[in-house]
Amino acid sequence: MVIMARVGVLALQGAVSEHLDMARRAGAYSLAVTSPDDLAQADALVIPGGESTAISRLIRQNGLEDPVRAFARSHPVLGTCAGLILCGREIGGPDKEPQPLGLMDITVERNGFGRQADSFETPLTVEGMGTVPAVFIRAPYIQSAGPGARVLASVGGRAVMAEQGNILVAAFHPELTDDLTVYRYFVGKIKAA
Ligand code: GLN
Repeated sequence: MVIMARVGVLALQGAVSEHLDMARRAGAYSLAVTSPDDLAQADALVIPGGESTAISRLIRQNGLEDPVRAFARSHPVLGTCAGLILCGREIGGPDKEPQPLGLMDITVERNGFGRQADSFETPLTVEGMGTVPAVFIRAPYIQSAGPGARVLASVGGRAVMAEQGNILVAAFHPELTDDLTVYRYFVGKIKAA
C-alpha cells in the first residue's frame, strides 16, 4: 500500500489555498494547519508568504512556536517569502521585526529588493533543479548564510533560496506558477526524512 505524504500548510495568514493546491498537484495530501493538533497530522509543513509580522504574531497566539520548532527538527519545512523570513535566525537591515523562529542559520533582509523591484518574475537557475519561473513579491533576500546552510539560487548576487537539512526556503512564490519543480523536490524530502 502506498501511503501518501501529508503536507500541512500553516493557515494563519497569507497565500494558503495556493499552497494547498500545489501540494496536491505534487502528489501529496494537503491540510490547513492552525493548531498544534493539526501539525501533529502532517509529515511536512509549508510556511507561506504573506506578512511576516502578522504570521509571527499568530504563530505565538495559536501556541505553535515551540511545536513548529520541534517539528522542524525531524520533518521537512518549506518557507516561502514571509515564510523564509520566519525560518531564519536573524533579521538584518532596517526592519528588526518579527522575531524569527530560527529554524535555519540564515540572516535575512525583509523587502530587500527595494521599491524599484517591488514585484517581478524571472527565470531562476536553482542548484540541482534546473531553471524555474520565480515570482518575487516584496521579497526578502538572504544576507548571509552560516556554514550549515547551502545557497541554491541567487538573483543579481542576492541569495534567494537555501537549504539546511530538513529546511528549504525560497524568497519567491513557487505556488504562484504552474511549475511543480520546487514542490516535487520538497515532497521528495518527506520520503527521505
Ligand atoms: N514583505 C513581506 C514581509 O516582510 C513578505 C512578502 C511576501 O510574503 N510576499 O513580511
